Amino acid sequence: MTESQIAHKRRHFSQKVQDIPSSGIRHFFELIANMDGCISLGVGEPDFVTPEQFTRAAFDSVRRGETHYTSNYGLPQLREAIAAHLDRLYGVRYDPRNEIIVTIGVSEALLLATHALLDPGDELLAPDPYYVAYLPCCVLAGGKFVTVPTHMENDFRVSAADLETAITPRTKAILLGYPSNPTGAQMTREDLAEIADLAARRDLVVISDEIYDRLSYGIEHTCFASLPGMKERTVLLGGFSKAYAMTGWRVGWVCAPSDILEAMMKIHQYIVMSAPTPSQYAALEALRSGEEHTQRFVAEFDARRRLIVAGLRDIGLTTFEPKGAFYAFPSVRSTGLSDMEFAERLLDEEKVAVIPGSAFGECGRGHVRMCYATPQPLIEEALERIGRFVRRL
Ligand code: PLP
Repeated sequence: MTESQIAHKRRHFSQKVQDIPSSGIRHFFELIANMDGCISLGVGEPDFVTPEQFTRAAFDSVRRGETHYTSNYGLPQLREAIAAHLDRLYGVRYDPRNEIIVTIGVSEALLLATHALLDPGDELLAPDPYYVAYLPCCVLAGGKFVTVPTHMENDFRVSAADLETAITPRTKAILLGYPSNPTGAQMTREDLAEIADLAARRDLVVISDEIYDRLSYGIEHTCFASLPGMKERTVLLGGFSKAYAMTGWRVGWVCAPSDILEAMMKIHQYIVMSAPTPSQYAALEALRSGEEHTQRFVAEFDARRRLIVAGLRDIGLTTFEPKGAFYAFPSVRSTGLSDMEFAERLLDEEKVAVIPGSAFGECGRGHVRMCYATPQPLIEEALERIGRFVRRL
């Protein structure tokens, strides 16, 4: 393509698309795609294959001829199972008829929530570092993404007081994602109760991305909607990708009071219609019989978590103990390299892929994200390579 063709094409791009960055994670996926012998701690997904009985349920549904759209809300029996699941775990009650939509993962749910809530110029508050899709979803909805710093010294937890200082008359909602990608931080019930109080006082909606809710180590997960008075102002996002090893099936959920849910439904019905039908059957089976698998995954992630944190500390990298999800987020400042230089040189010299923390916001600068949803022997080998690399610097 000639330059004038590129310039001509660019004239057609919307300002919104030009305003959002490409994912810093994808850049690393592309770099490692054709690299032999590379150990990837980059991708944020379980290494486990989806349990056989979930897959069988999907195939059985297809063989029965269940190959049509489902209700826009999703399969009724799946919505009932999601409602029962949330009631069992957190005592929060959603009406499967008009308070739950089955979505194409939390990814779609994030897009629905931001588009249903934000007008141009409305502000969405989120702790920094943040998951890479949060800013683009906000900006594509026309909103302004306002970040609130969090720090390793405070276990990367956000305080209600810090959130409050960032509130303006344009603030409409707070977006929380705990357990956190990329830091592994988890909030206590007390932390969240203070934010609940703030949301009620300042009349804000809370979008709570709880995709890692089951992967919490040592701190009992609190569902934001279960806090007193919060169901009415919470948009709860959850899904199957992480706790059931189902990333490729693309299925999740959004739960909200019926008025907010209907606003999101207006978007979902036109852009998606319904989540893939076979995936919904697999998800239903996951809720019916998946608990033992989830428990097995969590126990294994916890063992890997301890392995990687101890290994990184031995190497001399200051590493906060992650309390949830499956990421370690060591500081690489002591090496004298920036997070980007560290990630690029580690990949180049030792073939270990990690993600520079600055891909997740300013407060991620100086850190790298390492996903430990990777078999233990590979984590051990990666730690050896990282140790060698750091000692050479
Ligand atoms: N939210 C967070 C915090 C994530 O880490 C991810 C995936 O990495 C998602 C949402 C998207 O998940 P899904 O596969 O359900 O679209």
